[in-house]
Amino acid sequence: MAPGNRKAPTRAKSSESDFSIMEFARLFPDDETCLRYLWNARYNLGGDEAHCQRCEEIRLFRRYEGKQQRQAWTCTACGWQVYPTAGTIFHKSSTALQLWFHAMYLMTSTRCGISAKQLERELGVTYKTAWRMFTLIRNELMTQDHDEPLGGVVEMDETYVGGKPRADDRRAFAASPNARSAASKWGIENKVQVFGAVERKGRVTAHVIPSRQKTTLMAHVARRVESTAVVHTDTAHVYGALAQEHHTVNHHEKVFVSGDVHTQTIDGFWSLVKRGIGGTHHAVSPKWLQGYLNEYVWRYNHRDDGRAMFALLLLRSANPVR
Ligand SMILES: [Zn+2]
Repeated sequence: MAPGNRKAPTRAKSSESDFSIMEFARLFPDDETCLRYLWNARYNLGGDEAHCQRCEEIRLFRRYEGKQQRQAWTCTACGWQVYPTAGTIFHKSSTALQLWFHAMYLMTSTRCGISAKQLERELGVTYKTAWRMFTLIRNELMTQDHDEPLGGVVEMDETYVGGKPRADDRRAFAASPNARSAASKWGIENKVQVFGAVERKGRVTAHVIPSRQKTTLMAHVARRVESTAVVHTDTAHVYGALAQEHHTVNHHEKVFVSGDVHTQTIDGFWSLVKRGIGGTHHAVSPKWLQGYLNEYVWRYNHRDDGRAMFALLLLRSANPVR
């Protein structure tokens, strides 16, 4: 793809990143620069020297002009070839590398992220291609990458995420003898339960859970929260079993903050997720929800700097995914 063949990228709407699209275009003006980025991140030890697997030594590598060799760097001593995209999400993709990089830029340049539909529009690719890029970037690169349990002051909560009743669903609620319970029954059947925990001024985790039963929730808590943490929750009964020091706020009595006892941090995270899903991604099927949650968790845990978020995603993209 020659750079002149494509329309100049336009500034992403509602961009909150301090890394502008102009800067992106300057750093990655074409596919060649993107390929070289991957070579540098993955193999280059400096001066186009890399470890040659066949020679078992550090050798000088070179690009050759042949059609097959264009994507490869070749050992000048033995002819061994390395392909910087092998095994990565770009492997065997017929989509231009610069479009992939642009997609990663777009997905890290707003706080709420963008949908596959928006990628389709911004990149000028088919929806099928946009969806494939979107899911590979999200599922392979934006995963929950912190495995250590949360500590310090930790807020926990569960919530329901997903589908909104349609007009005919709402008419059915109104026609039923108890509209409120019909609506809540609909919610339980059509929404997915999620458990989340967040460190104040720290990291968050969020997972789809099959039920709110004590054994399910406590298994999550045991895995994701340190036993020495100080935990804040609402007054839901299931939290009665917590081993940690535990404070509660009674949301039923409209008490939301009592001293420093509150769950506003996790509430804030839920509203970010719900706003994103409601506004950007429209509907989320239960099958895809954990992927969305992983993306939001990743975003939240790397929230401090848009530039760092893009740089981190790029660096991850240079690693083979399996
Ligand atoms: Zn060699």
